[in-house]
Amino acid sequence: MKIEFLGTGSSAGTPVITCYCPVCRSEDPRNRRLRASILVRDGDTRLLVDTGPDLRQQMLRADVSSLSAVLYTHFHADHINGIDDLRAFNFAQKIVIPCHADARTAEELETRFRYCFLPPDSAWAKPSLSMHRISATEMFGPIRVTPVPVMHGTLPIFGYRFNNVAYLTDLKYIPEDSLALLQGLQVLILDCLRYEEHPTHLNVEEALYWARRIGAVQTIFTHMTHDVDYATLARQLPDTATPAYDGMVVAV
Ligand SMILES: [Zn+2]
Ligand SMILES: [Zn+2]
Ligand SMILES: [Zn+2]
Repeated sequence: MKIEFLGTGSSAGTPVITCYCPVCRSEDPRNRRLRASILVRDGDTRLLVDTGPDLRQQMLRADVSSLSAVLYTHFHADHINGIDDLRAFNFAQKIVIPCHADARTAEELETRFRYCFLPPDSAWAKPSLSMHRISATEMFGPIRVTPVPVMHGTLPIFGYRFNNVAYLTDLKYIPEDSLALLQGLQVLILDCLRYEEHPTHLNVEEALYWARRIGAVQTIFTHMTHDVDYATLARQLPDTATPAYDGMVVAV
């Protein structure tokens, strides 16, 4: 199984429009972050997590020619607003693309993007998607997918476990029941917004705390703002943790 980081940025991305801070002006390509998303592949099975506003660029850069399904973590704009670009896969694959989300996210998507969930028209003139509520483990080809409920401030959202890899973006707290779903991980991908505290996201210190508690072999931090310089954070982390960068691929 391969995990590709399509985007490792926060809602604004890095560089931030109008910002001239050292990270936004940095020459290091690892400081250029599209909005957070990953692609999970195993053979012909390709699962996309979230469809942020940078989706088109991400699909082109990763050279993705087909999708098996889309999994949504939650309905914030930085995770859903690229949904229209899924139409490219309708054209290419001639199928309705299946999307999976918790009940609240499914409802938000069906309301905000109603035209995507109407019966398909033969010309694929608009995106054609189907919505499935997911609440327990399901198999997607060879990949065993388990939704992992986490708290994004006061909003309950989903992270996902893919075999022995977990992707938990946008969170402040992990409930006990969910910790039980995170045992024996090879790779934990975790929210790490910035150094300063935030009401709905983990900062570096909190991310390290949860990384230690979960105890994955390797922890990779994502969803970072322009406060985070890649090389500086990489130097500060223990051997078992590393910041992600756009285009990074992890094989497990
Ligand atoms: Zn986000
Ligand atoms: Zn900046
Ligand atoms: Zn969010």
